[in-house]
Amino acid sequence: MPERLAIDCDDVIANTTGAVVSHARSVLARDIPVGNISCERYWRNRMSMTKGIALGFMKTFEMDGYPGIQPVEGVRVALEELSRSFELHVVTARMKYLRGVTEDFLRSHGLDSVIVEIHYSKNPFYPNGAPTKADICRDIGARALIDDSPREIAGMVSNEQAGILFGDNPWQVMPRGIDATAQLHAWDQYQTIEDLAA
Ligand SMILES: [Mg+2]
Repeated sequence: MPERLAIDCDDVIANTTGAVVSHARSVLARDIPVGNISCERYWRNRMSMTKGIALGFMKTFEMDGYPGIQPVEGVRVALEELSRSFELHVVTARMKYLRGVTEDFLRSHGLDSVIVEIHYSKNPFYPNGAPTKADICRDIGARALIDDSPREIAGMVSNEQAGILFGDNPWQVMPRGIDATAQLHAWDQYQTIEDLAA
């Protein structure tokens, strides 16, 4: 049986930050820099919003399936190749009410055929009672999690599980004293992941 590989959705498979920033620019009619949209400080400092107002602002956009959202560059080829060596599972902190838009996104970009299952984890912003990504990865026996969130990667490493930090942004800073198992700067380097299955 192939080993399982867990992959985050937002900003790993889907360019969510790009879609959110475009949406914010068009709704607020002002230039807004790309930044860490998962961080309260982004909304407070860059957008002059509290986290609560920001979450409300985002809700309609999310429910509409993040109009304009596109796959991260190179993800389709990379996942097609990786699916030859691994059983691919999406592990996302999206709320379960976004199940439909998440499945639609994957299907509309031809990614559904390489993904075996989608798991919905605990969300850092809403107490939804779901298990953490590290817990899900342990339960499904995932060889590693690929995620853009240093917090999720730290959760994996602290649990003695492999965490691969995806992306190359200045705000992706690992907590002091915890290193990611590996870093994948972009999907064109997916071959470095295949070594895990060897
Ligand atoms: Mg993410």
